[in-house]
This record gives sequence, structure tokens and C-alpha cells, in this order.
Amino acid sequence: MTRTMRLADLPPAPGEETHASLALANSGGWGAGAEAVDLLGDPRRTTDWMVARGLAAPDADVQEYCSNRLRDFRGSVREVFDAAATHERPPASAIDAVNAAMKLAPAVECLVWSEPEGFLSVPAHPATQAVEYAMSAVAADVLALLTGEDTAVLARCAAPSCGRFLLRTHARRHWCSTRCGDRVRAARAYARRAGRE
Ligand SMILES: [Zn+2]
Repeated sequence: MTRTMRLADLPPAPGEETHASLALANSGGWGAGAEAVDLLGDPRRTTDWMVARGLAAPDADVQEYCSNRLRDFRGSVREVFDAAATHERPPASAIDAVNAAMKLAPAVECLVWSEPEGFLSVPAHPATQAVEYAMSAVAADVLALLTGEDTAVLARCAAPSCGRFLLRTHARRHWCSTRCGDRVRAARAYARRAGRE
């Protein structure tokens, strides 16, 4: 009996709501089979993911190339998170990738006068730069997470085959979701039964 876990069906891991970088790290790119479902698997899904995270406007123009870039960047974010979670030195290339992304599209806004609202702050990014903007915003969030208080509670989900990261919002939290906790408990119970027979 193999129960497959569909990434798209999982609730966000603790911390994803406040950290876009955690959401990116958890968007796929590990495992095999159904668990390998990638929320950034193609330009359409990449656009949906960015729009849902508030990182792009719905008319964002995301090409295959952009989608690949964001997936590559995700690999670097996962490397620096792994380093933070295990207290080991990250590859220099991963840090370079974060810093390069930071400079892609500083999150500048334009001041716009609009009737009848008056002054508005509008993102100054053409639809074609959507991925640059998203990468820059995520990189800034990586910096904030890893140099702030949350870095102490950043962890990899303890369930085998789950590649998600989470913030351990309380000391006894080891899993990204109740589903991962249930899987681990079920596997332990099965191992105990098998051991007795
Ligand atoms: Zn998990």
C-alpha cells in the first residue's frame, strides 16, 4: 500500500504565509512519482503560483525560459535553507544566486495620481519582467528569514520523502503537515507490528 501525497493538495507549511521564500522552496523539485509534482512545472503553473503569492499580476508574461529560471533559483534557495537547517556551510554558488536575484528588479513602486482615489503606489514592472520581480522579492525574503529570528526555527520536514521546509512554530512540531505526521506514525506502527510477527 503506497499512499501518494499530492503536493498541490497539501496545506501550506507553517511559515509559508509570511515567507515567500519558504513557499518557493516548497513548490516542488524533489522526490519521485506523485510527490515530484512541481507547482512550477510549466509557464502556466508558474504564473498561477506567482499570482497566488501576490508576486505577479494576472497578465504576467511568463515564458518557458522564465519558468526554468525560477526553478533554478528555487534550487539555490533550497540549498541555503538546507544549510540553515543543518548549520552547515552552504555552497558559495547558492549565496551568489540569492544575491544576484536580489539585484534583478528592486521592488520599486511608482507614485501615480489617479481619479478619484488620489495618490496610489503602483509596481513599476512591465509584465515581461514578472519573473525578475518575483525572484528579487523572494531573494529579499530569503535575506530577511535567514538573518532574522525565524532562522532558528527553520527546519526540514522530518517525514521521509517529504522535501518541504517549515518554521517550527512550537518545539514539538517536526512535520510540515498533519498528513506527514500521520504517515510517519502509520509507518512506525507498521514496523512495530512487523517486528512482533
Ligand atoms: Zn512534510
